[in-house]
Amino acid sequence: MSDHMGHRHAKNIIFDWSGTLVDDLPPVLEATNAVMRAFGKPELSREQFRREFRLPFMHWYEEVLPGVPLKELDKVFLPAYAASQQPVTVLPHALKFLESCATAGRRMFVLSSAPQYAVEEQAEALGLKHFFERIWAGVVDKRTQIKPLLDTHGLLQQDTLMIGDMRHDMHTARAGGIHAVAVLTGYEYEEAIATSEPDLMVRDLGELHALHFP
Ligand SMILES: [Mg+2]
Repeated sequence: MSDHMGHRHAKNIIFDWSGTLVDDLPPVLEATNAVMRAFGKPELSREQFRREFRLPFMHWYEEVLPGVPLKELDKVFLPAYAASQQPVTVLPHALKFLESCATAGRRMFVLSSAPQYAVEEQAEALGLKHFFERIWAGVVDKRTQIKPLLDTHGLLQQDTLMIGDMRHDMHTARAGGIHAVAVLTGYEYEEAIATSEPDLMVRDLGELHALHFP
């Protein structure tokens, strides 16, 4: 989008969950490494994961573990993720940003690839659930769900922006014809997410709040 005023006037915000509102990398990394072990691959460090992982996750797994069907990955990943004692925390500035958007009367949604139950539970436990009109989670490829989300809730493209931490989120915004804002608090490094040409890239939601949603 050409001018940043549009962000300020956005009536609707679609948030990615992981790496945008919460840091769930610790349990995701633990569960991913359970998959790596189960299929005889070396475990990933946090930095390796951030450099290599991408969404849609099936495309990444197809490279790392070619030929292993989603069902087989889920059989290892989901129980390991559910059993993980690693903490999920609200990212700095996220709560204040959500509060200010709620005060401004913005409609807010979540669009996530993480399992539905997990996002719902985390949102509840972290006191964030009431901010969202609906949580769309368990989405394997967000690009296919953005139009249904906009249509279901009657969101106009020009009034809506998506905030995410991965290239896939920016591609999803593009597929939906909505504004794309990248935050650098999540899974991908700046040089990676910059290649998806977000309309705006900010360090975190605090910067977005200060500069574009005062
Ligand atoms: Mg994310």
